[in-house]
Amino acid sequence: MTDTAHRSTSTEGVAGGVGLTALLVAAARAIETHRHDSLAQDIYAEHFVRTAPASASWPVHIGQVPDGDANPLWGRFARYFGLRTRVLDDFLLQSVHAGGARQVVLLGAGLDARAFRLDWPPGCVIFEIDQEGVLAFKHEVLDGLSATAKATRVPIPIDLRADWVGALTDAGFDAAAPTAWLAEGLLFYLPITAETYLIDTVDRLSAGGSALAFEVKLEKNLLDYRDSPLYVSTKDQIGIDLLTLFDGEPRPDSAGDLRSKGWSASVHTPFDFTHRHGRGPLPEQNDALEGNRWVFANKPRP
Ligand code: SAM
Repeated sequence: MTDTAHRSTSTEGVAGGVGLTALLVAAARAIETHRHDSLAQDIYAEHFVRTAPASASWPVHIGQVPDGDANPLWGRFARYFGLRTRVLDDFLLQSVHAGGARQVVLLGAGLDARAFRLDWPPGCVIFEIDQEGVLAFKHEVLDGLSATAKATRVPIPIDLRADWVGALTDAGFDAAAPTAWLAEGLLFYLPITAETYLIDTVDRLSAGGSALAFEVKLEKNLLDYRDSPLYVSTKDQIGIDLLTLFDGEPRPDSAGDLRSKGWSASVHTPFDFTHRHGRGPLPEQNDALEGNRWVFANKPRP
């Protein structure tokens, strides 16, 4: 499957387009890391932010934000990413330690440093798929820090709108073994055809006992939220207009699709986890996070 009609981003890396959103999440994780009540620790995040010219002036500590937590971008939105990081850290660790998976596939891995910062069981392999330019930047920074992965890490530079299955299997992925899959902050950037292909492919390549977590946005019309504090501040403060990067078409029902393929799937709002952890974003008026859902799906063992 190829889709040449959509934006070309492979050489842009983290300098612009959807690749720049990887730096946004990294900055949020840096801020989260420095909080006294941090939900997730990522010591690499601030190095990504500081190194890239596009983000070198962004804050990596809430103390560097004049209005602090009242700032919709570096306060509430960053805390959202901090919570998401923690919840999906927990999902992956549960999938490998209790669920027994020894393969992890990070779809749209961006600057996710989980391979370097989480404790993986022996024999774990982590495949990271993202655009070539994003992964090249990631390696430049991690190599400069002499960072050592805590699992076997296999980067796969490819566009997820292309046929990425061949690249994954060529890289050593074993479809007969259970896998923990993650699509964090990814699906709403993809055309419907690419999301459908991704869900079909995950199902096809998943042995029983596999798990998938992903994030979706359920809003019928994203533009209804164009004046929300979150979208306006992200555009005005760092020049990222998320609404131009999201795919605007109505989304497929990927959780329902997986259920029809025999998976179980539970769908949560982020606010469910705010309550569980005692910190994180809460609903507000004109809320760009209103339609966000985190989905956890499991393929039963035979
Ligand atoms: N999952 C990471 C995280 O949460 O830190 C990164 C999230 S970032 C918001 C979105 C990522 O998806 C970017 O790294 C971007 O390059 C990647 N991405 C978006 N569209 C893609 C595509 N068509 N092919 C490969 N990667 C893509």
